[in-house]
Amino acid sequence: MENPTPNHKHIMKLLTHLILLLVLATGSVFADAKVKAGPRKGLLLDLGGRQAEFYVEKDRGISIAVYDSAMKAQPATTEVFTATAEAPDGKTKIAFEVKDGKLVSTTKLPEGEGYQIVLQAKATPEAKPKNFRIKLQLYICEKCGNPEYACICDE
Ligand SMILES: [Zn+2]
Repeated sequence: MENPTPNHKHIMKLLTHLILLLVLATGSVFADAKVKAGPRKGLLLDLGGRQAEFYVEKDRGISIAVYDSAMKAQPATTEVFTATAEAPDGKTKIAFEVKDGKLVSTTKLPEGEGYQIVLQAKATPEAKPKNFRIKLQLYICEKCGNPEYACICDE
């Protein structure tokens, strides 16, 4: 009859390795969770249940696409967004209207970049507003290919 001990030791060693791998994998998942980008390479914002993708168009308009938790595109129905562009020469309030299922800004972003945009999001008109601060940096990150405001690289 075989001695079960070597087998047991082997399994324990494997388990230890597996746990270590899991810890490492989970750690990197948490690190990546800081910034998420959506399918349009925009910045993904968690609205609690739904996700919104903040995207700056070529003409400096903002468009926001809405997805469910499984990242399936959803027409924006109840979401309410307002933004304040804190440009060096003054704050500009930006309103949004629904266009082709997305929320599209009714005004363009002020000139320049590097300033903050405060985006206020409500999943429904009655929901508690969530504020997101986005630094407007429009150049494309060479590493991830996203605009810098939606860069998913570490730092
Ligand atoms: Zn990047």
